[in-house]
Amino acid sequence: MTPKGIIIGAGIAGIAAAIRLAQKGYQVEVYEANQYPGGKLSNFSLGAYRFDAGPSLFTMPHFVDELFELCDENPRDYFNYKKKSIACQYFWEDTTRLTAFSDPKKFAQEVEDKLQVAPQTLQAYLDKAKTKYDLTANLFLHQSLHQLKTYWSKDTLKALQNIQQMEIGKSLDDVNTQQLKEPHLVQFFNRYATYNGSSPYKTPGIMTLVQHLESHYGTYFPKGGMVEISQSLFELAKRQGVVFHLGQKVEQILLKNKKAIGIKTNSREVLADLVVANMDIYPTYKKLLPEIKMPRNVRKEERSSSAVIFYWGVEKQFDEMDLHNIFFSDNYPEEFKALFEDKTIYKDPTIYVNITAKEEAKDAPTGAENWFVMINAPANYGQDWKREVDLLRTRVIEKLNRMLGCDLSALIKEETIMSPPEIQAKTQSHMGALYGASSNNKMAAFLRHPNFKSSIDHLYFCGGSVHPGGGIPLCLLSAKIVSDQLPSV
Ligand code: FAD
Repeated sequence: MTPKGIIIGAGIAGIAAAIRLAQKGYQVEVYEANQYPGGKLSNFSLGAYRFDAGPSLFTMPHFVDELFELCDENPRDYFNYKKKSIACQYFWEDTTRLTAFSDPKKFAQEVEDKLQVAPQTLQAYLDKAKTKYDLTANLFLHQSLHQLKTYWSKDTLKALQNIQQMEIGKSLDDVNTQQLKEPHLVQFFNRYATYNGSSPYKTPGIMTLVQHLESHYGTYFPKGGMVEISQSLFELAKRQGVVFHLGQKVEQILLKNKKAIGIKTNSREVLADLVVANMDIYPTYKKLLPEIKMPRNVRKEERSSSAVIFYWGVEKQFDEMDLHNIFFSDNYPEEFKALFEDKTIYKDPTIYVNITAKEEAKDAPTGAENWFVMINAPANYGQDWKREVDLLRTRVIEKLNRMLGCDLSALIKEETIMSPPEIQAKTQSHMGALYGASSNNKMAAFLRHPNFKSSIDHLYFCGGSVHPGGGIPLCLLSAKIVSDQLPSV
């Protein structure tokens, strides 16, 4: 009989794992608590406006293409994207504006013109970031860190010989300040810590490799919006014979003789030959494996940041704004800062405005725009979110009014708001964290939960809260690492 694999959660990693397992010959069923697939990578409509609910930055699209190719399909028949010529526009209160052109030469020129930083300084910084990426990518991203064979390799030896170059002993902010000096540029590059929900003042200097990913691979926008990443893979999985059970929450992982043998939903038990949990690792232990002791790292590791998001249908088009825009904060009032310093995540909360209607006219009515306004925030430690969100809304509107010379309140025609408790409720992410555990700890890469459990056979883990980490590309890699552990049938 064909062996059966059950996947808990239809997040992007769960869908990718389903495709890979089906390709290996398994019969695959996915159980998803929500009525829709995609988890954080989903979308919704408000009146005449469409919004991507979560991610807006898309890099390394080849990891998505690879899944179609694995199934002998041409990705371009189902999933298309455009490389952006401008990654993001940056606005500071002192009227400085910087356009992050994707073309490295144009960007270097822009940095020289606007910030008077010599192209050689920028290049030297980016070269160092590339070295860090080249030394670590194979070791940290493409394989399990929890198997001995990983450490008996040329890659590991090379990484160890060059450990000094990783700048692990310094914070990202220290590295950026020492190498770049110019305060706007330091703030610009510090922001990359938020790509995995960490603090630039704590996460180690090795993290400059994240900006290498963006400057080297570029950033992309999928035709039809970010949701097309999960939606097109969901359809691909179905074409591979994967069966999705939407609206079916798993309540327990069934174990027998230290082996996973299936799952239990509120209505039935389903037996299987292996189980892959795509849901956040913390509730996986707490709720689905109540008899198994939760590992200390899962219990104790600081969570990554979360976010407060205002989804606004805005009845105006703003020529000065691009698809992605960042408004840096350099003079927020103290009461506003208190919200963030509470858990010392960010000293400089930024306002991120993403307007997909700039690319997809159908995302907003004519003459209007769909604004996804995200402010990085600490995970949910029980703050008074009603109070914080009200305060934040007022401050954000004041700031955007000041910087764009408009009266935004009068232009907002549709609105919905998501704060960390809602992110937690919608996706079961522990404390509403966007990327599982933060990378603030120097050893974070080694502390993330492995993609398998050595004491329980036939149980695997993928998704943003386990190795190699959060964000779309790493989630897709986690699915690959799981599938690499399994034989073809
Ligand atoms: P998730 O998306 O977390 O999905 C897990 C799924 O499991 C959910 O659908 C949930 O309902 C289901 N589930 C949970 N418990 C159960 C259960 N008991 N039974 C059945 N189903 C269950 N990443 C980027 O790359 N770029 C960005 O720009 C970016 N921005 C972000 C902005 C926001 C606001 C958010 C929220 C996230 C952002 N991320 C970004 C992070 C990215 O979205 C995640 O890392 C990634 O989507 C997580 O995917 P996942 O596979 O881990 O699963």
